Amino acid sequence: MNILVINAGSSSLKYQLFDMITESVLAKGKVERIGMETAMLSHEPAGRSEFREVSEIWDHTTAIRKVLRVLIDPKEGVLTSMEDVHAVGHRVVHGGESFSGSVLVDERVKAEIRRLFDLAPLHNPGALTGILAVEANLPHVPQVVVFDTAFHQTMPPVAFRYAIPNVFYKKHGVRRYGFHGTSHQYVSQRAAELSGKPIETMKLITCHIGNGASVTAIKHGQSVDTSMGMTPLEGLMMGTRSGDIDPAIVPFAMDKEDLSVNEVNSMLNKHSGLFAVSGGLGDMREVLEAMKEGDRNARLAFDMYEYRLRKYIGAYAAAMNGFDTLIFTAGVGENSALLREVICSQLSYLGLTLDTEANERKGGGDRKISSPDSKVDVWVIPTNEELVIARDTFREAARIRGLSDEEAGAVTC
Ligand code: ADP
Repeated sequence: MNILVINAGSSSLKYQLFDMITESVLAKGKVERIGMETAMLSHEPAGRSEFREVSEIWDHTTAIRKVLRVLIDPKEGVLTSMEDVHAVGHRVVHGGESFSGSVLVDERVKAEIRRLFDLAPLHNPGALTGILAVEANLPHVPQVVVFDTAFHQTMPPVAFRYAIPNVFYKKHGVRRYGFHGTSHQYVSQRAAELSGKPIETMKLITCHIGNGASVTAIKHGQSVDTSMGMTPLEGLMMGTRSGDIDPAIVPFAMDKEDLSVNEVNSMLNKHSGLFAVSGGLGDMREVLEAMKEGDRNARLAFDMYEYRLRKYIGAYAAAMNGFDTLIFTAGVGENSALLREVICSQLSYLGLTLDTEANERKGGGDRKISSPDSKVDVWVIPTNEELVIARDTFREAARIRGLSDEEAGAVTC
């Protein structure tokens, strides 16, 4: 069975086509600048060179049509006909309290995603447009949505409620939801698999540290707390997001600098974090480079970033009465040996010891970086959110056909 995974934003759309027999990627790519004359399709068939095309693409329906056409193109394509796309999976950022797992798209699901626009105004509209665009191009193909928030729906009220008047929760859904759920779920399950331990017996802390960053406490396979909140702004210091601040700073800044709601939102989401403290470097690689050259602001930005992450790890150790596995993933987590080393060197009170050589070894792939006698296992596990979406879509598509996973693998290819 072939599954097309779509991650649609307001003006861009990324895709990956999976063959689920081997769980391999047949092709991947993206369409950028949707809505402009200079929209660009970049398409990469597995093992072949990238194909690029600039053209007018006014909406998501046209963008999806372009993607489907290139997938069946005799020269650049990997399929013989559109009928070879058996199901489509979508990443949707916000599922609110309505979705605790992946679901098949129907009218009710679309209406619910629309209802949640208020909670994710920058993300959910793009995702719904992507769903409607697939529907317009492939009306008979089942579609499944996978929510960034779903994995965290197991958090108890003690972790998800804010200590503000009830009306905000009851009337407006103001509570902590958490994000990056597919990533936290994937790396925790992968660590259990690699350790050969049942996840139901484990206590894990997963650090998804990319441009956006969050930490999750996972007890016996369930998310019990996570650092992002009602929006992906809460928690860790990030590339350009502030993370936790005293909420009183918001009215203070609005008053002193005469900022509007949009301006204060933009200040906290786009002009804060590493970018603000380092003096203009929002990308960790640039911060590390500047630090090497002795830049003191870059050093402070890195130190704050590391310190805040370490504090969250300590908090989640307390939340779960200890933990046995620490995982680093995403751009910074997978690549910065320095960040991992500094964090782990300060967790020695937990009996955690790092295998310095393993930590510094270059090259991707899942790897254990703690020493054999460490009381906490530390892993670097590259995240693979698209694969989780493809697996969930495959499972739902097989279910509606009344097939077991095995039969579904054998049936269509
Ligand atoms: P996104 O949240 O956009 O998916 P990524 O997971 O791709 O982000 O992470 C991007 C971050 O990873 C950037 O801050 C980038 O500098 C950082 N990064 C990528 N490679 C390295 C590296 N070799 N060393 C340190 N940081 C890195």
